[in-house]
Amino acid sequence: MPIRKLDASLINQITAGEVIERPASVVKELVENSLDAGAKTVRVQIEEGGKRRISVADDGSGIAQDELALALARHATSKLDCAEDLWRIQTLGFRGEALPSIASVSRLTLTSATGEDEHGWRVEEAAAPAPRPHPRGCTVDVRDLFYNTPARRKFLRADATEWKHIATALRRLALGHLAVTFEASHDGRAQLQYPRVGEGTGEAARLEAILGREFAEQSVFFEDAADGLRVCGWLGLPTYSRSQPDQQFLYVNGRYVRDKTVAHAVRKAYEDVLYGQRYPCYVIYLEAPSGAVDVNVHPSKLEVRFRESRQVHHVVSHSIAQAIGTVRPGEGGHDAAHFRNLVNENPQAQQPAMPLPAARASGAPAGLRADLHPPKASADMPPLGFARTQLHGIYVLAENEHGLVLVDMHAAHERITYERLKASRDASGVRMQPLLVPQSLNLSEAEAACVGEHQEALQSFGLDMAAASPTQVQIRAVPSLLARADPVALVRDVVADLMEHGRSRRIAEMENELLASMACHGAVRAGRQLTMEEMNALLREMEETERSGQCNHGRPTWVQLSIDQLDKLFMRGQ
Ligand code: ADP
Ligand code: MG
Repeated sequence: MPIRKLDASLINQITAGEVIERPASVVKELVENSLDAGAKTVRVQIEEGGKRRISVADDGSGIAQDELALALARHATSKLDCAEDLWRIQTLGFRGEALPSIASVSRLTLTSATGEDEHGWRVEEAAAPAPRPHPRGCTVDVRDLFYNTPARRKFLRADATEWKHIATALRRLALGHLAVTFEASHDGRAQLQYPRVGEGTGEAARLEAILGREFAEQSVFFEDAADGLRVCGWLGLPTYSRSQPDQQFLYVNGRYVRDKTVAHAVRKAYEDVLYGQRYPCYVIYLEAPSGAVDVNVHPSKLEVRFRESRQVHHVVSHSIAQAIGTVRPGEGGHDAAHFRNLVNENPQAQQPAMPLPAARASGAPAGLRADLHPPKASADMPPLGFARTQLHGIYVLAENEHGLVLVDMHAAHERITYERLKASRDASGVRMQPLLVPQSLNLSEAEAACVGEHQEALQSFGLDMAAASPTQVQIRAVPSLLARADPVALVRDVVADLMEHGRSRRIAEMENELLASMACHGAVRAGRQLTMEEMNALLREMEETERSGQCNHGRPTWVQLSIDQLDKLFMRGQ
Protein backbone atom coordinates (compact mmCIF):
# COMPACT_ATOMS: atom_id res chain seq x y z
CA MET A 1 0.00 0.00 0.00
CA PRO A 2 1.39 3.45 -0.83
CA ILE A 3 1.92 5.98 1.96
CA ARG A 4 -1.03 8.31 2.37
CA LYS A 5 -2.51 10.59 5.01
CA LEU A 6 -5.16 9.10 7.27
CA ASP A 7 -8.53 10.76 7.05
CA ALA A 8 -9.85 12.73 9.99
CA SER A 9 -12.46 10.25 11.18
CA LEU A 10 -9.91 7.44 11.22
CA ILE A 11 -7.49 9.59 13.23
CA ASN A 12 -10.27 10.30 15.71
CA GLN A 13 -11.02 6.63 16.07
CA ILE A 14 -7.37 5.91 16.75
CA THR A 15 -7.30 8.60 19.44
CA ALA A 16 -10.52 7.23 20.86
CA GLY A 17 -8.68 3.95 21.25
CA GLU A 18 -6.32 5.68 23.66
CA VAL A 19 -8.75 7.61 25.79
CA ILE A 20 -12.15 5.94 25.40
CA GLU A 21 -11.86 2.47 26.75
CA ARG A 22 -15.38 2.02 28.08
CA PRO A 23 -18.48 4.02 29.03
CA ALA A 24 -16.81 5.21 32.24
CA SER A 25 -14.11 6.96 30.19
CA VAL A 26 -16.80 8.84 28.25
CA VAL A 27 -18.41 9.91 31.51
CA LYS A 28 -15.06 11.06 32.87
CA GLU A 29 -14.26 13.19 29.81
CA LEU A 30 -17.72 14.75 29.62
CA VAL A 31 -17.92 15.55 33.32
CA GLU A 32 -14.41 17.02 33.19
CA ASN A 33 -15.66 19.36 30.47
CA SER A 34 -18.61 20.35 32.66
CA LEU A 35 -16.28 21.08 35.57
CA ASP A 36 -13.95 23.09 33.32
CA ALA A 37 -16.99 25.10 32.21
CA GLY A 38 -17.64 26.09 35.83
CA ALA A 39 -20.78 23.99 36.34
CA LYS A 40 -22.39 24.00 39.79
CA THR A 41 -24.52 20.97 39.03
CA VAL A 42 -23.78 17.95 36.86
CA ARG A 43 -26.52 15.44 36.00
CA VAL A 44 -25.60 12.11 34.50
CA GLN A 45 -28.09 9.68 32.97
CA ILE A 46 -26.96 6.21 32.03
CA GLU A 47 -28.82 3.50 30.15
CA GLU A 48 -27.72 -0.12 29.94
CA GLY A 49 -24.39 0.42 31.57
CA GLY A 50 -23.73 3.33 29.21
CA LYS A 51 -23.72 1.14 26.13
CA ARG A 52 -27.07 2.43 24.99
CA ARG A 53 -26.89 5.98 26.28
CA ILE A 54 -24.76 8.36 28.31
CA SER A 55 -26.06 11.85 28.89
CA VAL A 56 -24.22 14.54 30.82
CA ALA A 57 -25.99 17.84 31.46
CA ASP A 58 -24.46 20.84 33.22
CA ASP A 59 -25.19 24.45 34.06
CA GLY A 60 -21.77 25.75 33.11
CA SER A 61 -20.78 28.48 30.65
CA GLY A 62 -22.14 26.69 27.58
CA ILE A 63 -20.82 26.93 24.03
CA ALA A 64 -21.77 29.71 21.61
CA GLN A 65 -23.56 28.77 18.41
CA ASP A 66 -20.64 29.63 16.17
CA GLU A 67 -18.25 27.48 18.20
CA LEU A 68 -20.35 24.35 18.40
CA ALA A 69 -18.88 22.78 15.30
CA LEU A 70 -15.37 23.61 16.47
CA ALA A 71 -15.97 21.90 19.80
CA LEU A 72 -16.38 18.68 17.84
CA ALA A 73 -13.32 19.29 15.71
CA ARG A 74 -10.06 17.58 16.44
CA HIS A 75 -7.44 19.47 18.47
CA ALA A 76 -9.82 22.33 19.03
CA THR A 77 -9.83 23.65 22.57
CA SER A 78 -10.56 26.84 24.46
CA LYS A 79 -8.17 25.87 27.27
CA LEU A 80 -4.75 26.23 25.74
CA ASP A 81 -3.16 28.93 23.65
CA CYS A 82 0.59 28.55 23.50
CA ALA A 83 3.30 26.13 24.55
CA GLU A 84 4.01 27.91 27.83
CA ASP A 85 0.37 27.37 28.79
CA LEU A 86 1.13 23.69 29.10
CA TRP A 87 2.93 24.47 32.36
CA ARG A 88 0.12 26.61 33.69
CA ILE A 89 -2.86 24.38 33.09
CA GLN A 90 -5.64 24.84 35.60
CA THR A 91 -8.31 22.96 33.67
CA LEU A 92 -8.86 19.22 33.56
CA GLY A 93 -8.92 19.15 29.75
CA PHE A 94 -6.50 20.77 27.32
CA ARG A 95 -5.89 18.35 24.48
CA GLY A 96 -9.04 19.07 22.47
CA GLU A 97 -9.49 15.40 21.77
CA ALA A 98 -12.36 14.12 23.86
CA LEU A 99 -15.43 15.31 21.97
CA PRO A 100 -14.19 14.42 18.48
CA SER A 101 -12.97 11.03 19.72
CA ILE A 102 -16.26 10.18 21.39
CA ALA A 103 -18.20 11.44 18.36
CA SER A 104 -16.17 9.15 16.11
CA VAL A 105 -17.24 6.01 17.98
CA SER A 106 -20.85 6.84 18.88
CA ARG A 107 -23.89 8.87 17.85
CA LEU A 108 -23.30 12.14 19.66
CA THR A 109 -25.43 15.25 19.96
CA LEU A 110 -24.32 18.42 21.64
CA THR A 111 -26.89 20.95 22.84
CA SER A 112 -25.86 24.14 24.51
CA ALA A 113 -26.80 27.68 25.44
CA THR A 114 -24.63 30.49 26.73
CA GLY A 115 -27.52 32.54 28.09
CA GLU A 116 -26.99 35.24 25.46
CA ASP A 117 -29.58 33.92 22.99
CA GLU A 118 -33.16 33.16 23.83
CA HIS A 119 -32.66 29.51 23.12
CA GLY A 120 -29.90 27.02 22.66
CA TRP A 121 -28.42 25.21 19.69
CA ARG A 122 -27.88 21.59 18.87
CA VAL A 123 -25.36 19.92 16.59
CA GLU A 124 -25.16 16.32 15.52
CA GLU A 125 -22.89 14.68 12.99
CA ALA A 126 -21.83 17.21 10.39
CA ALA A 127 -25.18 19.03 10.24
CA ALA A 128 -25.41 22.78 10.87
CA PRO A 129 -26.57 23.87 14.35
CA ALA A 130 -30.34 23.87 14.81
CA PRO A 131 -32.22 25.92 17.41
CA ARG A 132 -33.28 24.00 20.47
CA PRO A 133 -34.60 25.00 23.88
CA HIS A 134 -31.90 24.65 26.53
CA PRO A 135 -31.05 26.48 29.73
CA ARG A 136 -27.57 27.97 30.09
CA GLY A 137 -25.10 25.12 30.06
CA CYS A 138 -24.40 22.10 28.00
CA THR A 139 -25.87 18.63 27.40
CA VAL A 140 -23.93 15.96 25.62
CA ASP A 141 -25.86 12.88 24.62
CA VAL A 142 -23.88 9.82 23.56
CA ARG A 143 -25.74 6.86 22.11
CA ASP A 144 -24.66 3.42 20.94
CA LEU A 145 -21.04 3.63 22.04
CA PHE A 146 -18.69 1.63 19.78
CA TYR A 147 -21.53 0.82 17.33
CA ASN A 148 -19.02 1.20 14.50
CA THR A 149 -16.05 -0.49 16.22
CA PRO A 150 -17.35 -3.98 17.00
CA ALA A 151 -13.98 -5.15 18.33
CA ARG A 152 -14.20 -2.57 21.12
CA ARG A 153 -17.82 -3.29 21.78
CA LYS A 154 -17.00 -6.94 22.37
CA PHE A 155 -14.81 -6.01 25.32
CA LEU A 156 -17.60 -4.32 27.22
CA ARG A 157 -18.92 -6.16 30.27
CA ALA A 158 -22.34 -6.64 31.79
CA ASP A 159 -24.38 -3.48 32.38
CA ALA A 160 -23.91 -3.74 36.13
CA THR A 161 -20.12 -3.94 35.76
CA GLU A 162 -19.95 -0.98 33.39
CA TRP A 163 -22.16 0.98 35.77
CA LYS A 164 -19.76 0.19 38.61
CA HIS A 165 -16.90 1.66 36.61
CA ILE A 166 -18.99 4.73 35.92
CA ALA A 167 -19.86 5.14 39.60
CA THR A 168 -16.17 4.86 40.51
CA ALA A 169 -15.28 7.53 37.96
CA LEU A 170 -18.01 9.80 39.32
CA ARG A 171 -16.89 9.32 42.91
CA ARG A 172 -13.36 10.33 41.95
CA LEU A 173 -14.58 13.43 40.17
CA ALA A 174 -16.96 14.36 42.97
CA LEU A 175 -14.24 14.02 45.61
CA GLY A 176 -12.08 16.38 43.60
CA HIS A 177 -14.81 19.01 43.25
CA LEU A 178 -16.62 19.38 46.52
CA ALA A 179 -18.39 22.57 45.43
CA VAL A 180 -20.29 20.88 42.61
CA THR A 181 -23.50 18.86 42.99
CA PHE A 182 -23.44 15.47 41.28
CA GLU A 183 -26.48 13.38 40.44
CA ALA A 184 -26.57 10.17 38.47
CA SER A 185 -29.19 7.65 37.45
CA HIS A 186 -28.96 4.25 35.82
CA ASP A 187 -31.87 2.97 33.72
CA GLY A 188 -34.13 5.60 35.22
CA ARG A 189 -33.28 4.82 38.84
CA ALA A 190 -31.54 7.49 40.92
CA GLN A 191 -28.18 6.11 42.06
CA LEU A 192 -25.81 8.83 43.23
CA GLN A 193 -26.62 12.09 44.89
CA TYR A 194 -23.80 14.24 46.18
CA PRO A 195 -24.96 17.71 47.23
CA ARG A 196 -22.27 20.36 46.94
CA VAL A 197 -20.52 21.70 49.99
CA GLY A 198 -22.15 24.94 51.03
CA GLU A 199 -25.70 25.63 52.14
CA GLY A 200 -26.30 22.96 54.75
CA THR A 201 -23.70 20.45 53.58
CA GLY A 202 -20.31 20.36 55.29
CA GLU A 203 -17.18 18.79 53.89
CA ALA A 204 -17.47 15.87 56.26
CA ALA A 205 -21.04 15.21 55.09
CA ARG A 206 -19.91 15.29 51.48
CA LEU A 207 -17.10 12.87 52.27
CA GLU A 208 -19.56 10.59 53.99
CA ALA A 209 -21.95 10.73 51.01
CA ILE A 210 -19.20 9.70 48.63
CA LEU A 211 -17.09 7.25 50.63
CA GLY A 212 -19.51 6.12 53.28
CA ARG A 213 -19.96 6.66 56.96
CA GLU A 214 -17.19 4.34 58.06
CA PHE A 215 -14.56 6.20 56.11
CA ALA A 216 -15.79 9.53 57.45
CA GLU A 217 -15.71 8.26 61.01
CA GLN A 218 -12.45 6.39 60.79
CA SER A 219 -10.41 9.22 59.37
CA VAL A 220 -8.94 12.50 60.51
CA PHE A 221 -8.62 15.76 58.64
CA PHE A 222 -5.12 17.12 58.15
CA GLU A 223 -3.61 20.20 56.58
CA ASP A 224 -0.08 21.40 56.02
CA ALA A 225 2.00 23.67 53.82
CA ALA A 226 5.71 23.80 53.05
CA ASP A 227 8.05 24.70 50.22
CA GLY A 228 5.23 26.30 48.23
CA LEU A 229 3.17 23.11 48.39
CA ARG A 230 -0.13 22.79 50.16
CA VAL A 231 -1.43 19.44 51.23
CA CYS A 232 -4.60 18.52 53.06
CA GLY A 233 -7.29 15.86 53.16
CA TRP A 234 -8.47 12.94 55.23
CA LEU A 235 -6.28 10.15 56.52
CA GLY A 236 -7.76 6.82 57.48
CA LEU A 237 -6.79 5.70 60.95
CA PRO A 238 -4.22 2.93 60.88
CA THR A 239 -6.80 0.62 62.40
CA TYR A 240 -9.03 1.27 59.39
CA SER A 241 -6.53 -0.12 56.89
CA ARG A 242 -7.58 -2.41 54.07
CA SER A 243 -6.27 -5.48 52.31
CA GLN A 244 -6.35 -3.65 48.97
CA PRO A 245 -5.42 -0.12 47.94
CA ASP A 246 -9.00 0.61 46.87
CA GLN A 247 -9.64 3.66 49.03
CA GLN A 248 -6.77 5.86 48.04
CA PHE A 249 -7.56 9.11 46.33
CA LEU A 250 -4.91 11.58 45.33
CA TYR A 251 -5.64 14.93 43.70
CA VAL A 252 -2.97 17.16 42.28
CA ASN A 253 -4.34 20.63 41.61
CA GLY A 254 -7.85 19.20 41.50
CA ARG A 255 -7.04 16.35 39.15
CA TYR A 256 -7.38 12.74 40.27
CA VAL A 257 -4.08 11.06 39.48
CA ARG A 258 -2.00 8.05 40.33
CA ASP A 259 1.49 8.92 41.30
CA LYS A 260 4.31 6.72 42.47
CA THR A 261 6.15 9.47 44.33
CA VAL A 262 3.17 10.43 46.45
CA ALA A 263 2.05 6.82 46.91
CA HIS A 264 5.49 5.96 48.24
CA ALA A 265 5.56 8.99 50.50
CA VAL A 266 2.24 7.97 52.01
CA ARG A 267 3.36 4.38 52.49
CA LYS A 268 6.46 5.64 54.23
CA ALA A 269 4.40 7.82 56.54
CA TYR A 270 2.18 4.90 57.52
CA GLU A 271 5.03 2.40 57.62
CA ASP A 272 5.36 2.44 61.36
CA VAL A 273 1.69 1.89 62.10
CA LEU A 274 0.72 -0.57 59.38
CA TYR A 275 2.29 -3.96 59.26
CA GLY A 276 2.05 -6.75 56.74
CA GLN A 277 0.11 -6.36 53.55
CA ARG A 278 -2.26 -3.61 54.67
CA TYR A 279 -3.12 -0.46 52.73
CA PRO A 280 -4.06 2.87 54.25
CA CYS A 281 -7.19 4.75 53.17
CA TYR A 282 -6.87 8.38 52.26
CA VAL A 283 -8.06 11.37 50.31
CA ILE A 284 -5.17 13.74 49.70
CA TYR A 285 -5.31 17.08 47.96
CA LEU A 286 -1.99 18.43 46.85
CA GLU A 287 -1.73 21.95 45.50
CA ALA A 288 1.45 22.79 43.67
CA PRO A 289 2.24 26.10 41.97
CA SER A 290 1.95 26.12 38.18
CA GLY A 291 5.32 25.32 36.75
CA ALA A 292 5.91 22.66 39.36
CA VAL A 293 3.76 19.99 37.73
CA ASP A 294 3.57 18.68 34.20
CA VAL A 295 0.13 17.28 33.40
CA ASN A 296 0.91 16.51 29.79
CA VAL A 297 2.22 13.00 30.36
CA HIS A 298 -0.40 10.68 28.95
CA PRO A 299 -3.63 11.12 26.92
CA SER A 300 -5.71 9.73 29.78
CA LYS A 301 -4.31 12.52 32.00
CA LEU A 302 -4.08 10.09 34.92
CA GLU A 303 -0.45 10.84 35.57
CA VAL A 304 1.58 13.92 36.34
CA ARG A 305 5.27 14.65 36.56
CA PHE A 306 6.68 16.77 39.36
CA ARG A 307 9.60 19.02 38.65
CA GLU A 308 10.90 18.48 42.20
CA SER A 309 9.67 15.06 43.09
CA ARG A 310 11.95 14.67 46.10
CA GLN A 311 10.53 17.79 47.63
CA VAL A 312 6.99 16.54 47.05
CA HIS A 313 7.92 13.23 48.64
CA HIS A 314 9.36 14.94 51.65
CA VAL A 315 6.48 17.34 52.26
CA VAL A 316 3.78 14.69 51.83
CA SER A 317 5.42 12.05 53.94
CA HIS A 318 6.38 14.47 56.67
CA SER A 319 2.96 16.09 57.03
CA ILE A 320 1.15 12.75 57.01
CA ALA A 321 3.49 11.09 59.50
CA GLN A 322 3.00 14.07 61.74
CA ALA A 323 -0.78 13.97 61.43
CA ILE A 324 -0.96 10.24 62.15
CA GLY A 325 1.53 10.48 64.97
CA THR A 326 -0.57 12.98 66.85
CA VAL A 327 -3.85 11.09 66.64
CA ARG A 328 -4.62 10.51 70.30
CA PRO A 329 -7.47 9.15 72.33
CA GLY A 330 -10.49 11.33 71.75
CA GLU A 331 -9.96 11.74 68.03
CA GLY A 332 -11.26 9.97 65.00
CA GLY A 333 -12.59 6.47 65.20
CA HIS A 334 -11.76 3.66 67.61
CA ASP A 335 -15.36 2.76 67.84
CA ALA A 336 -16.42 -0.72 68.60
CA ALA A 337 -17.26 -2.16 65.18
CA HIS A 338 -20.44 -0.63 63.78
CA PHE A 339 -21.11 1.76 66.58
CA ARG A 340 -21.18 5.42 65.76
CA ASN A 341 -18.58 7.61 67.31
CA LEU A 342 -18.94 11.22 68.33
CA VAL A 343 -19.16 13.00 65.03
CA ASN A 344 -16.07 15.05 64.49
CA GLU A 345 -16.42 17.76 61.90
CA ASN A 346 -12.94 18.89 62.71
CA PRO A 347 -11.18 16.26 64.77
CA GLN A 348 -7.97 18.24 65.08
CA ALA A 349 -9.74 20.91 67.04
CA GLN A 350 -11.31 18.43 69.41
CA GLN A 351 -8.21 16.83 70.76
CA PRO A 352 -8.85 16.90 74.50
CA ALA A 353 -6.43 18.69 76.72
CA MET A 354 -4.21 16.21 78.50
CA PRO A 355 -2.88 17.41 81.85
CA LEU A 356 -0.92 14.24 82.13
CA PRO A 357 2.52 14.48 83.64
CA ALA A 358 0.88 15.87 86.77
CA ALA A 359 -1.59 13.05 86.98
CA ARG A 360 1.16 10.51 86.72
CA ALA A 361 3.43 12.14 89.24
CA SER A 362 0.79 11.99 91.92
CA GLY A 363 0.33 8.26 91.49
CA ALA A 364 -3.28 7.20 91.41
CA PRO A 365 -5.28 10.16 90.17
CA ALA A 366 -8.02 11.61 92.32
CA GLY A 367 -11.40 10.26 91.38
CA LEU A 368 -10.09 6.76 91.36
CA ARG A 369 -10.21 6.29 95.11
CA ALA A 370 -13.65 4.81 95.25
CA ASP A 371 -15.70 3.04 92.66
CA LEU A 372 -18.61 4.41 94.60
CA HIS A 373 -18.08 7.89 93.28
CA PRO A 374 -17.90 7.61 89.53
CA PRO A 375 -15.91 10.54 88.15
CA LYS A 376 -18.17 13.23 86.78
CA ALA A 377 -17.71 14.36 83.22
CA SER A 378 -15.47 17.32 83.63
CA ALA A 379 -12.56 19.15 82.15
CA ASP A 380 -10.28 17.21 84.50
CA MET A 381 -11.33 13.87 83.17
CA PRO A 382 -8.51 12.50 81.00
CA PRO A 383 -9.55 11.26 77.55
CA LEU A 384 -9.29 7.61 78.45
CA GLY A 385 -10.81 8.15 81.85
CA PHE A 386 -10.03 6.14 84.96
CA ALA A 387 -9.65 2.41 85.34
CA ARG A 388 -12.46 0.50 87.00
CA THR A 389 -11.33 -3.10 86.76
CA GLN A 390 -9.59 -5.73 84.73
CA LEU A 391 -11.35 -8.43 82.76
CA HIS A 392 -9.90 -11.95 82.41
CA GLY A 393 -6.43 -10.53 82.80
CA ILE A 394 -6.70 -9.21 79.26
CA TYR A 395 -8.77 -6.04 79.20
CA VAL A 396 -8.75 -2.94 81.29
CA LEU A 397 -12.19 -1.42 81.74
CA ALA A 398 -12.18 2.31 82.27
CA GLU A 399 -14.82 4.96 82.57
CA ASN A 400 -14.48 8.27 80.80
CA GLU A 401 -16.68 11.21 79.97
CA HIS A 402 -18.42 9.40 77.12
CA GLY A 403 -18.92 6.01 78.72
CA LEU A 404 -16.89 2.85 78.71
CA VAL A 405 -13.32 2.46 77.44
CA LEU A 406 -11.93 -1.01 76.80
CA VAL A 407 -8.18 -1.41 76.53
CA ASP A 408 -6.24 -4.42 75.31
CA MET A 409 -3.60 -4.16 77.97
CA HIS A 410 -0.83 -6.20 76.36
CA ALA A 411 -1.26 -4.58 72.95
CA ALA A 412 -1.29 -1.09 74.45
CA HIS A 413 1.72 -1.69 76.63
CA GLU A 414 3.62 -3.27 73.77
CA ARG A 415 3.06 -0.17 71.66
CA ILE A 416 4.15 2.13 74.42
CA THR A 417 7.32 0.12 75.01
CA TYR A 418 8.04 0.17 71.30
CA GLU A 419 7.57 3.92 71.01
CA ARG A 420 9.86 4.42 73.99
CA LEU A 421 12.53 2.17 72.55
CA LYS A 422 12.42 4.16 69.35
CA ALA A 423 12.55 7.45 71.20
CA SER A 424 15.55 6.42 73.28
CA ARG A 425 17.34 5.06 70.22
CA ASP A 426 16.77 8.38 68.45
CA ALA A 427 17.91 10.36 71.45
CA SER A 428 21.13 8.75 72.55
CA GLY A 429 21.01 5.07 71.72
CA VAL A 430 18.95 2.58 73.69
CA ARG A 431 20.05 2.49 77.33
CA MET A 432 21.48 -0.85 78.37
CA GLN A 433 21.21 -2.71 81.58
CA PRO A 434 24.01 -5.22 82.20
CA LEU A 435 22.81 -8.64 83.34
CA LEU A 436 24.10 -9.63 86.79
CA VAL A 437 24.88 -13.04 85.42
CA PRO A 438 25.55 -13.15 81.67
CA GLN A 439 23.35 -15.74 79.97
CA SER A 440 24.48 -18.25 77.40
CA LEU A 441 22.42 -19.14 74.42
CA ASN A 442 23.00 -21.99 71.97
CA LEU A 443 22.48 -21.15 68.34
CA SER A 444 23.16 -22.76 65.01
CA GLU A 445 26.44 -21.82 63.40
CA ALA A 446 24.67 -19.66 60.88
CA GLU A 447 22.73 -17.86 63.60
CA ALA A 448 25.82 -17.23 65.69
CA ALA A 449 27.60 -15.88 62.62
CA CYS A 450 24.66 -13.60 61.97
CA VAL A 451 24.89 -12.23 65.51
CA GLY A 452 28.60 -11.60 65.05
CA GLU A 453 27.99 -9.84 61.80
CA HIS A 454 25.42 -7.47 63.29
CA GLN A 455 27.02 -7.05 66.68
CA GLU A 456 27.40 -3.31 66.40
CA ALA A 457 23.87 -2.70 65.21
CA LEU A 458 22.50 -4.88 67.98
CA GLN A 459 24.40 -2.84 70.49
CA SER A 460 22.70 0.29 69.28
CA PHE A 461 19.38 -1.34 70.25
CA GLY A 462 20.69 -2.13 73.68
CA LEU A 463 21.64 -5.77 73.14
CA ASP A 464 25.20 -6.57 74.11
CA MET A 465 26.31 -10.01 73.00
CA ALA A 466 29.59 -11.78 72.43
CA ALA A 467 30.44 -15.05 70.73
CA ALA A 468 31.43 -17.73 73.25
CA SER A 469 31.96 -20.46 70.66
CA PRO A 470 30.91 -20.97 67.01
CA THR A 471 27.52 -22.11 68.27
CA GLN A 472 27.08 -20.16 71.45
CA VAL A 473 26.67 -16.49 72.35
CA GLN A 474 26.70 -14.75 75.68
CA ILE A 475 24.11 -12.11 76.45
CA ARG A 476 25.72 -9.43 78.62
CA ALA A 477 23.20 -6.61 78.58
CA VAL A 478 19.63 -5.91 77.48
CA PRO A 479 17.75 -2.63 77.02
CA SER A 480 16.83 -1.13 80.41
CA LEU A 481 13.25 -0.82 79.21
CA LEU A 482 13.17 -4.59 78.83
CA ALA A 483 14.98 -5.41 82.05
CA ARG A 484 12.12 -7.59 83.21
CA ALA A 485 11.95 -9.61 80.01
CA ASP A 486 13.45 -13.09 79.59
CA PRO A 487 16.75 -12.26 77.85
CA VAL A 488 17.07 -15.64 76.15
CA ALA A 489 13.59 -15.50 74.60
CA LEU A 490 14.20 -11.89 73.60
CA VAL A 491 17.44 -12.67 71.78
CA ARG A 492 15.98 -15.76 70.12
CA ASP A 493 13.25 -13.62 68.56
CA VAL A 494 15.65 -10.96 67.40
CA VAL A 495 17.94 -13.56 65.87
CA ALA A 496 14.99 -15.21 64.15
CA ASP A 497 14.02 -11.86 62.62
CA LEU A 498 17.57 -11.23 61.52
CA MET A 499 17.84 -14.65 59.92
CA GLU A 500 14.59 -14.20 58.10
CA HIS A 501 15.10 -10.72 56.69
CA GLY A 502 18.62 -9.67 57.53
CA ARG A 503 20.15 -11.20 54.45
CA SER A 504 17.98 -9.44 51.95
CA ARG A 505 17.74 -6.08 53.67
CA ARG A 506 20.06 -3.72 55.37
CA ILE A 507 19.64 -3.79 59.12
CA ALA A 508 18.86 -0.08 59.20
CA GLU A 509 15.72 -0.76 57.19
CA MET A 510 14.45 -3.32 59.66
CA GLU A 511 15.41 -1.49 62.82
CA ASN A 512 11.86 -0.61 63.68
CA GLU A 513 10.68 -4.15 63.12
CA LEU A 514 13.39 -5.45 65.43
CA LEU A 515 12.47 -2.93 68.09
CA ALA A 516 8.82 -3.92 67.66
CA SER A 517 9.49 -7.58 68.27
CA MET A 518 11.69 -6.70 71.23
CA ALA A 519 8.91 -4.54 72.67
CA CYS A 520 6.66 -7.58 72.79
CA HIS A 521 8.98 -9.11 75.40
CA GLY A 522 8.86 -6.06 77.56
CA ALA A 523 5.08 -5.73 77.55
CA VAL A 524 2.87 -7.03 80.34
CA ARG A 525 1.70 -10.53 79.60
CA ALA A 526 -1.96 -11.25 79.28
CA GLY A 527 -3.13 -12.87 82.47
CA ARG A 528 -1.16 -10.66 84.82
CA GLN A 529 -3.21 -8.90 87.45
CA LEU A 530 -2.58 -5.17 87.47
CA THR A 531 -3.16 -2.85 90.38
CA MET A 532 -5.45 0.13 89.92
CA GLU A 533 -2.41 2.31 89.94
CA GLU A 534 -0.75 0.32 87.18
CA MET A 535 -3.90 0.37 85.09
CA ASN A 536 -4.23 4.12 85.41
CA ALA A 537 -0.57 4.61 84.66
CA LEU A 538 -1.09 2.61 81.49
CA LEU A 539 -4.04 4.81 80.45
CA ARG A 540 -2.02 7.96 81.08
CA GLU A 541 0.92 6.65 79.08
CA MET A 542 -1.36 5.80 76.19
CA GLU A 543 -2.58 9.37 76.16
CA GLU A 544 0.96 10.64 76.04
CA THR A 545 2.41 8.25 73.55
CA GLU A 546 2.31 8.92 69.84
CA ARG A 547 0.62 6.29 67.73
CA SER A 548 -0.60 4.47 70.81
CA GLY A 549 -4.03 3.91 69.25
CA GLN A 550 -2.92 0.80 67.48
CA CYS A 551 -0.64 -2.05 68.42
CA ASN A 552 2.52 -2.90 66.54
CA HIS A 553 0.46 -4.96 64.12
CA GLY A 554 -2.01 -2.20 63.34
CA ARG A 555 -4.88 -3.51 65.45
CA PRO A 556 -6.64 -1.13 67.82
CA THR A 557 -5.39 -0.99 71.38
CA TRP A 558 -8.60 0.51 72.74
CA VAL A 559 -12.23 1.14 71.82
CA GLN A 560 -14.84 3.49 73.14
CA LEU A 561 -18.43 2.46 73.89
CA SER A 562 -20.45 5.57 74.60
CA ILE A 563 -23.42 5.64 76.93
CA ASP A 564 -25.58 6.11 73.81
CA GLN A 565 -24.20 2.95 72.33
CA LEU A 566 -24.67 1.06 75.55
CA ASP A 567 -28.25 2.37 75.76
CA LYS A 568 -28.83 1.05 72.26
CA LEU A 569 -27.55 -2.37 73.25
CA PHE A 570 -30.19 -2.44 75.96
CA MET A 571 -32.80 -0.69 73.82
CA ARG A 572 -33.16 1.96 76.43
CA GLY A 573 -35.28 4.93 75.46
CA GLN A 574 -36.53 3.34 72.24
P1 ADP B 1 -10.66 19.82 25.89
O1 ADP B 1 -11.53 19.62 27.08
O2 ADP B 1 -9.39 19.12 25.99
O3 ADP B 1 -10.51 21.25 25.53
P2 ADP B 1 -12.79 18.54 24.47
O4 ADP B 1 -12.84 17.83 23.17
O5 ADP B 1 -13.18 17.77 25.66
O6 ADP B 1 -11.36 19.15 24.63
O7 ADP B 1 -13.72 19.81 24.36
C1 ADP B 1 -13.50 20.76 23.33
C2 ADP B 1 -13.98 22.16 23.72
O8 ADP B 1 -15.40 22.16 23.79
C3 ADP B 1 -13.53 22.60 25.08
O9 ADP B 1 -12.25 23.21 25.01
C4 ADP B 1 -14.62 23.59 25.48
O10 ADP B 1 -14.36 24.85 24.96
C5 ADP B 1 -15.84 23.05 24.78
N1 ADP B 1 -16.71 22.28 25.71
C6 ADP B 1 -16.79 20.94 25.80
N2 ADP B 1 -17.68 20.57 26.73
C7 ADP B 1 -18.19 21.72 27.25
C8 ADP B 1 -19.15 22.00 28.30
N3 ADP B 1 -19.78 21.03 28.97
N4 ADP B 1 -19.42 23.29 28.56
C9 ADP B 1 -18.77 24.29 27.89
N5 ADP B 1 -17.87 24.07 26.93
C10 ADP B 1 -17.56 22.81 26.60
MG1 MG C 1 -12.29 17.79 27.65
